[in-house]
Amino acid sequence: DMEVAIKVVVVGDGAVGKSSMIQRYCKGIFTKDYKKTIGVDFLERQLLVNDEDVRLMLWDTAGQEEFDAITKAYYRGAQACVLVFSTTDRQSFEAIGSWWEKVEIEVGDIPAVLVQNKIDLLDDTVIKNEEAEGLAKKLKLRFYRTSVKEDLNVNEVFKYLADKYLQR
Ligand code: GDP
Ligand code: MG
Repeated sequence: DMEVAIKVVVVGDGAVGKSSMIQRYCKGIFTKDYKKTIGVDFLERQLLVNDEDVRLMLWDTAGQEEFDAITKAYYRGAQACVLVFSTTDRQSFEAIGSWWEKVEIEVGDIPAVLVQNKIDLLDDTVIKNEEAEGLAKKLKLRFYRTSVKEDLNVNEVFKYLADKYLQR
């Protein structure tokens, strides 16, 4: 059996938890003051999807999102995408459309998933459920709510993405 390797880009505004999500999924850790650099372009994790070996390569940005300067090399060859916004950051929710547009411009209509992270902070939410669900519907994307901190739904996001990629 040939192993399938998938380049996944994780995009969204700064501080929504992208790097934390990659660390959590690939290393099983969460650190509260995790900072930008992981020193490599991506982290990877293998999983089994319907008896197929899949290797997900999760590409992290080095925090350049704050400067709107993510290089073409980051997107190049991306085969799947996670769009992330935060429960406590209204702007990050409103920016999802333009993030998705950017991805489509760089690599076209690849399998993608919409993620609302920091669901452990739901008491402080600035986004109504129906707004988030409405956006997912509009973009025709599966929608997950995660807490990277509490390890809620993170595996499900990547399992879904790998599955969707294989079915494309
Ligand atoms: P990035 O800029 O999108 O890569 O975001 P980071 O991964 O650097 O995370 C920004 C901050 O949010 C860090 O302090 C993280 O510890 C925190 N964070 C990430 N995920 C969660 C979560 O699910 N819940 C809470 N409460 N904090 C989180
Ligand atoms: Mg980061």
